[in-house]
Amino acid sequence: MKKILTFVAMPLAAIGFGLLLLAEKKRPLRKATANQLERVPRNLALGGVTSLAVNWLFVPVVSAVARLVQRRKLGLLNRLPLPAPLKFIVALILLDYTFYWWHRWLHENGFLWRFHIVHHADLDLDVSTAARFHPGEYLLSTPYRAAQITLIGASPAAAATFEAMLMLAAEFHHSNVRLPLDVERRLNTFMVTPRMHGIHHSIIAGESNANYATILTVWDGLHQTLRRNVPQDEITIGLAAYRDKSQLTLGKLLVMPFVAQRNAWQFIDGVRPVRGALPAPDAELMA
Ligand SMILES: [Zn+2]
Repeated sequence: MKKILTFVAMPLAAIGFGLLLLAEKKRPLRKATANQLERVPRNLALGGVTSLAVNWLFVPVVSAVARLVQRRKLGLLNRLPLPAPLKFIVALILLDYTFYWWHRWLHENGFLWRFHIVHHADLDLDVSTAARFHPGEYLLSTPYRAAQITLIGASPAAAATFEAMLMLAAEFHHSNVRLPLDVERRLNTFMVTPRMHGIHHSIIAGESNANYATILTVWDGLHQTLRRNVPQDEITIGLAAYRDKSQLTLGKLLVMPFVAQRNAWQFIDGVRPVRGALPAPDAELMA
């Protein structure tokens, strides 16, 4: 698993990052509101700190668990008489599905939200947001991923492929790339795209607490958490309670989970942002 991540996933993620960065410059989707020369290096710096938690804890634990699951033939897929390629694909689908629940839990559980808030407090959304996670979120996701792999019976190869796909999918759907609307609508019938995930980063609670899927769109459809009908130029990215740039420095982001929490969905004057009626039904992706 370590080898796949180091020699396949990381170089692919670096290439994806570079290509999306160029595409964002050429065809931006939303207008930037913050100083990009401050926020992009800050996101990458936070990603750098988090990569220590990933390399020293997440990857060693998760790969050891995946090897143990394979050796002891634990989990659902190790009990089913399916051909290996089918097991591999089903493992990826089930990992993506259970990851939907992890992301939803990050939003619905007050303790987990303290960590995920750091990701959502970004004032703009672009490929660098895909690196902006608090190390604590990875720390907490380690036992969850170990449980996913154990219950599903995912092989080490499937587990590593899932991490690689997760990284690439996160880069893509956080990117600020304006795809032609008809192309994105077609893509979004099965996978998470930049406009769909942009709605998840809206300051409005009902929009952010939707679109939890990471790779496949189907999970949001299945659980009625799919929101596609918000036009991108009407979205304010970030959290209502954290608009002040002086509160979003690297140091403040690192301590954010451990200090008194604000209600993320209201401005500091107590006003809650709301949106009037939208022109299209929930399931229709808007420009
Ligand atoms: Zn989220």
